[in-house]
Amino acid sequence: MLKLAAMFRFNEGDQEAVYAVQRERMVAEQIERRGVTDPEVLAAMRTVPRHRFVPEEERQEAYFDGPLSIGSGQTISQPYVVASMTEALGLTHRSKALEIGTGSGYQTAVLAEIVDRVFSVEIRADLYERATQLLSELGYRNIRTMLGNGYSGWPQEAPFDGIIVTAAAPYIPPALLDQLAVGGRMIIPVQEEAPPRQELLLLEKTDAGITRRVMYEVRFVPLIDGQ
Ligand code: SAH
Repeated sequence: MLKLAAMFRFNEGDQEAVYAVQRERMVAEQIERRGVTDPEVLAAMRTVPRHRFVPEEERQEAYFDGPLSIGSGQTISQPYVVASMTEALGLTHRSKALEIGTGSGYQTAVLAEIVDRVFSVEIRADLYERATQLLSELGYRNIRTMLGNGYSGWPQEAPFDGIIVTAAAPYIPPALLDQLAVGGRMIIPVQEEAPPRQELLLLEKTDAGITRRVMYEVRFVPLIDGQ
């Protein structure tokens, strides 16, 4: 009896192994199957422990095919959305990236696996503090976070090779376009009025101006405090 009980005791290492299996399955079934091919992005999605970015009571669902609540009315995006937005930016290990909406810090960590440096802005103090602490605990040394309004970007660190906005904006914030390098890309969900829906836009800054492509329809929480 005693032996049996010992056999079935679930220790922390076993739990991590279960999450690793779930993570592999997430990449194969949700991300590769839907067409993401960039090896750097796939490797990052295989590496970042998504379960650490969701509240304790949601851990069992961390690798599900959907967004999850991270508290304070905010969400961590669906794994496929994180992967495809990251891939669309076309970043390399030399890139400098800016994220607006740190939230849980999950997308920040995925970017940090791929690029040289990531700068991330969050407007809510509770989320900013939690994500900053967790990213440091996980050992990320190439991330800087800031508490502030993402509409202004991070001018002191501009230009950026990639800018990712993870909340829906009523319009494209001009400061962010200014802070994009020539040859750089920005991905942003934009809220349309009529019909009411959100489109994920991919913008690219070229010598000749800005090109614009609609990726797919999305549902993000709104970007707070725009003027
Ligand atoms: N990238 C996040 C998803 C966060 S949800 C993740 O992987 O978990 C959107 C986030 O944007 C929320 O944390 C919200 O507080 C933040 N946000 C909303 N408006 C903002 C603004 N104006 N500036 C910066 N962050 C903002």
